[in-house]
Amino acid sequence: MTADRTRAVLTLNAGSSSLKVGLFPMQGDAALATGLADRIGPDGTLTLKDATGAAIPALAGDLSNHEAALATILASLAARFPDLDLAAVGHRVVHGGPDHAAPARVTPALLEELARYAPFAPLHQPHNLSGIRAAMAAFPGVPQVACFDTAFHRGHPWVNDTYALPRRFHDKGVRRYGFHGLSYDYIAGELARISPGLAAGRVVVAHLGNGASICGMMGGRSIASTMGFSPLDGLAMGTRPGQIDPGVLLYLMDQEGMSAGQISDLLYRQSGLLGLSGLSNDMRRLEAAGTDAAAEAIAYFVARLQRELGSMAAALGGIDALVFTGGIGENSAPIRARVCEGMGWMGIAADAACNAAHARMISPEGAAVAVLVMPTNEELVIARAARALV
Ligand code: AMP
Repeated sequence: MTADRTRAVLTLNAGSSSLKVGLFPMQGDAALATGLADRIGPDGTLTLKDATGAAIPALAGDLSNHEAALATILASLAARFPDLDLAAVGHRVVHGGPDHAAPARVTPALLEELARYAPFAPLHQPHNLSGIRAAMAAFPGVPQVACFDTAFHRGHPWVNDTYALPRRFHDKGVRRYGFHGLSYDYIAGELARISPGLAAGRVVVAHLGNGASICGMMGGRSIASTMGFSPLDGLAMGTRPGQIDPGVLLYLMDQEGMSAGQISDLLYRQSGLLGLSGLSNDMRRLEAAGTDAAAEAIAYFVARLQRELGSMAAALGGIDALVFTGGIGENSAPIRARVCEGMGWMGIAADAACNAAHARMISPEGAAVAVLVMPTNEELVIARAARALV
């Protein structure tokens, strides 16, 4: 007996030391399989799951670099889906530059253009592009689609898109791009589906994960983001500081003699919750730690978020809904409660029981601002873009 051919699209999300994959059917939202190659290098690990969450046996294979990890993942998937017929591959690409407001079919010209944005996102873009090249080599002739984290933000009003530097810097690409666009795109679509009235209004989405940002939307379109030129600005994150006075960086260079590379490491890897707590970048660990430094790190995270919420409401001229998403936003009732507690003056409140139960709507009946908890799904946004192409 021969199995039916499994026509599907593959999604790839290549990080600096990880590779996330999803295998999606041509219709429907549920993945056929998901996988994560983590700590790519000598200690790499690979986990694969099927649609029910059951483990798919990962074949022993090379996880020493991204290309090898992709080959190992594909071999494991092929063993589970022997008649896999890939219609397209969708890729998460952190930077689409100033012009791409939608996913784009990968061509040699596009690859060249995206390589020019690598200096804007040196820790992510090169890995994203090597993921595309590896998939092109593995599946010659299969269409590849690039989905940009910056694309959702391309319609910002000029004042939310620029820095007050001499104009030539804006023209050279030094401007606010915004990130987490795939997540915001997903939430905007889901909100329009479950509550078109709210989606038509002024919505602030807080994507709170290891990376964190908030996005102000009007009528489902991004108006402003706390992330700007790089994914460093705005909220405090797992290992990034968020908003910082540029004078601090000048001081570190001039007086502490730190190089650009050392400052980059400080800002991307040593700061945020990890730097403040001296313990961990992981919110769950900090909530459980019970040390003063962990409590202060959490207090800073909440306070920065509250200030940015006020700023975003000002940019939108008010707020009709606040959506929590991302690992912390979806799962930490204590963080949501603390954020809302301090924002009552803006009409934001959380019902304790609904919040503790992670209900979709956690604001009390009749509240001025609807407060929602919505799981995000960046992989599905990529899969839909890949499907739309074929
Ligand atoms: P993400 O980058 O979206 O996967 O989110 C990762 C962050 O979510 C980490 O800081 C986790 O500690 C945090 N997180 C996940 N689950 C929980 C939870 N139940 N309570 C608090 N934080 C959580």
